[in-house]
Amino acid sequence: MKSSARVVVIGGGVVGAGTLYHLAKKGWSDVVMIERKELTSGSTWHAAGLLPLFNMSYSVGKLHQYSVDFYQELEQETGQSVGFSQVSNIRLANCDYRMDEYKYYSGVAKTVGVDVKFLTPEEVKEIWPLCNTEGLVGAIQHPEDGYIQPADLTQALAKGARERGAEIYRYTTVTGIEQQADGRWLVKTDKGDIDCEHVVSCTGSFARKTGQMVGLDIPVIPVEHQFIVTEPHPEIQARHQQGLPEMGVLRESDAGYYLREEGGGLLLGPYEKGAPCCYVDGPADDCEYELFNEDLDRLMPHVEACMYRVPAFGEVGVKTVYNGAIAYTPDGNPIVGPAPGLKNFWLNEGHSFGITAAGGAGWQLAEWIVDGEPTVDMMGVDPRRFGPYASRGYLRNKNEEAYSNVFTTHYPDEERSAARPLKTSPCYDRMKALGAVFGSVYGWERPNWFAPKGYQLSEDDLAKADVLLNDNHSKPLEDGRVVEKNSFRRSNYFEFVGQECQHVSSKVGLLDMSAFAKCLVSGPGAEAWLESLFANRIPKSIGRIGLCHMLSMNGGVRAEFTVYKTGPQHYYLVSAGAFENHDHDYLKKLKPNDGSVNLQPITTQQGVLVLAGPRSREVLQKLTDTDLSNKAFPWLTGQFINVGYAQAHALRVNFVGELGWELHHPIEMQNYIFDQLMAAGAEFDIKPFGIRAMDSMRIEKSYRLIPREMSIEYSALESGLDRFVRLDKECDFIGKQALADWQERGFKNAFVTLEVRGVTDADARGSEAIYKDGEVVGRATSGGYGWRVGKSLALGLVQPALAEIGTELQIEILGELYNATVIEESPFDPENKCLRA
Ligand SMILES: Cc1cc2nc3c(=O)[nH]c(=O)nc-3n(C[C@H](O)[C@H](O)[C@H](O)COP(=O)(O)OP(=O)(O)OC[C@H]3O[C@@H](n4cnc5c(N)ncnc54)[C@H](O)[C@@H]3O)c2cc1C
Repeated sequence: MKSSARVVVIGGGVVGAGTLYHLAKKGWSDVVMIERKELTSGSTWHAAGLLPLFNMSYSVGKLHQYSVDFYQELEQETGQSVGFSQVSNIRLANCDYRMDEYKYYSGVAKTVGVDVKFLTPEEVKEIWPLCNTEGLVGAIQHPEDGYIQPADLTQALAKGARERGAEIYRYTTVTGIEQQADGRWLVKTDKGDIDCEHVVSCTGSFARKTGQMVGLDIPVIPVEHQFIVTEPHPEIQARHQQGLPEMGVLRESDAGYYLREEGGGLLLGPYEKGAPCCYVDGPADDCEYELFNEDLDRLMPHVEACMYRVPAFGEVGVKTVYNGAIAYTPDGNPIVGPAPGLKNFWLNEGHSFGITAAGGAGWQLAEWIVDGEPTVDMMGVDPRRFGPYASRGYLRNKNEEAYSNVFTTHYPDEERSAARPLKTSPCYDRMKALGAVFGSVYGWERPNWFAPKGYQLSEDDLAKADVLLNDNHSKPLEDGRVVEKNSFRRSNYFEFVGQECQHVSSKVGLLDMSAFAKCLVSGPGAEAWLESLFANRIPKSIGRIGLCHMLSMNGGVRAEFTVYKTGPQHYYLVSAGAFENHDHDYLKKLKPNDGSVNLQPITTQQGVLVLAGPRSREVLQKLTDTDLSNKAFPWLTGQFINVGYAQAHALRVNFVGELGWELHHPIEMQNYIFDQLMAAGAEFDIKPFGIRAMDSMRIEKSYRLIPREMSIEYSALESGLDRFVRLDKECDFIGKQALADWQERGFKNAFVTLEVRGVTDADARGSEAIYKDGEVVGRATSGGYGWRVGKSLALGLVQPALAEIGTELQIEILGELYNATVIEESPFDPENKCLRA
């Protein structure tokens, strides 16, 4: 065994093998993989081998698509069969809501480049003659989809890696991992130690045990997953004898199962309600090829549904039931990328579709490790999308929920209910009493919108079979009222959100943004360090505020910060609440270690209340001694002010484009400030507003969000950040040269704001394909109705030649094409008169 290597990959399942292969393919041959038992002896050997391309996440969609293409090349390259049966995959829809999901998904698929076909029930019958198509509304088909032999695939990856110089040590257990003084890692095993530059953890169900070796709480706990294999069925055998093709993979989403042919019989895999977490503290040390006892009761509802849909399934006996561990995370997506807080320690864990994702995840992780950046936007799978709140108890609850929701309809506004409320700001109860309908981000409860007193969905709405079938309304409030129906179209909250927007625009509103990520940067080196991080110049005078972007090494956008200078060499940085761990991790890892810069995260110490609207000055002026006049307190400045007895940093900025202040205050003073504002605002009819109103208003201002309009896949200039990027800045900053080179090479995309014409009940949501003359020329990244401008709007990126104002394009929303015109940025108040008022 080597005593030193460039990279040690821990875990010899399909994911570890995919990582090892791609590291070697990128030219790093001094790489090793360590497996405690035999390759595939964890979860990989018992997987059903399906390769579903369907995924609502852009990041995961891209990884899956890569895998399906790559696995076929791998077989040719290595000569090792991977057993890929490209039999296609059909997903059935039993109701219109499900069809809407498929139509929405087809936008994601088109922009990712995945082929999707829509089928009628009759077409389903032709392909799957054993399927009873009664009650079906339609289906989609992925012709390139199919299934593979997981063990063969792993062996092919291992072979390809070995042929490029990688070494694999089986029956070798990693027992400890230590970071050495020089930053290199020492991986300790029962057969000796390996000194290395990078460690990649691909340990499946063992993820939390591996994490403990380096002090990481990895948010992965597996859940039990079962599938049934039947005895051969004469009709299927007869089809084989006649040389007919396999019928392919059939998924009945509304009944929560997949089905395919296996050995002349059928293989049924359901995603049951009530499937429990397993290996909560990790598998036993001697665990190998382990299965659990089957739980037939849990399977029965799916078995019955399948017998109705495919009667042949009930006509043959059960041959085997597999019940194995499937790794889960709270949102069901894997964890691929850098470990928070640890340099050169990488995670490729939490894979619930690991056979499908292994190729793509290995590919992107290898790029990240070798080149310093991935090329696909990985925000949807970044390990830092979770924070320390994702504790053991939270994971147990959330991961079981994620598993049981694999097949439920995934609405754009879906809000899941497990493990909530967890993180609440002090004004939570006050907001609740005012009718807040909460959403959750990064564990925080935030008002999404406000339901009028006593409001609930009508009996009619609740009685619709489709509504119950799809769980397509949010969890009832504590008093039993159901106030929100999820939909891909304008839903019941649409008008209420509109009223909030109009109220903020005409009077004054209050929004809780305490979830914002916040930190203080200070020390003699603070200014120079921040200048070297950000593409914009950081504010020079005390009290000034600037919007600053941290670019990727390639010139894309990695993070966005509001930077407020509070004193000489003192700065207050605010960024999106959802990305606290992500953004702060970059800051921590990039901080100079010579003591010249202090970095102090203060997210949970500071609350944020946003006061916005034309009457906001009058409200706040009643409570503070500070002169709030435009002259004394201009836009894009901040001051430390009193609010009655309390104090706050008042920042004259907001994300809605109205006159207003963000009040960043000691969190323990929040309720006092809240009450003061509500009392002072009563004469101006102050009302709370929520995130959905904020989102509608930010779209009207063409304000960009990560990872939508801004991402590492688009250069900062493609995202239209010209006024925030100072290529002429004296000092170097991350991504500066790469961005200049990108500009030289020419851009493939340009940011646009679109007015969408003719929509009646469904606005763009982001992920819709944009067309010119029938060709896909870009994708929408956000969309919604702009209440202040009275227009349906979309933000997106299109080919640069089509970004001219007035260009006529088309956008596909839920299967319908609508005309869309490129309009000037910031359709609401383009001159920022309200903000400067
Ligand atoms: C019943 C069932 C059906 C499934 N069907 C599908 C499907 O159809 N399609 C699909 O895409 N996915 C499917 N999955 C999921 C799939 O099996 C997993 O996502 C995938 O196998 C994960 O691979 P992995 O390499 O991450 O983990 P594993 O295969 O579990 O590999 C991890 C390896 O790490 C090793 N290891 C751990 N700790 C150490 C250590 N300290 N030192 C050395 N080695 C260590 C373990 O021994 C293990 O071999 C299914 C899962 C189940 C349970």
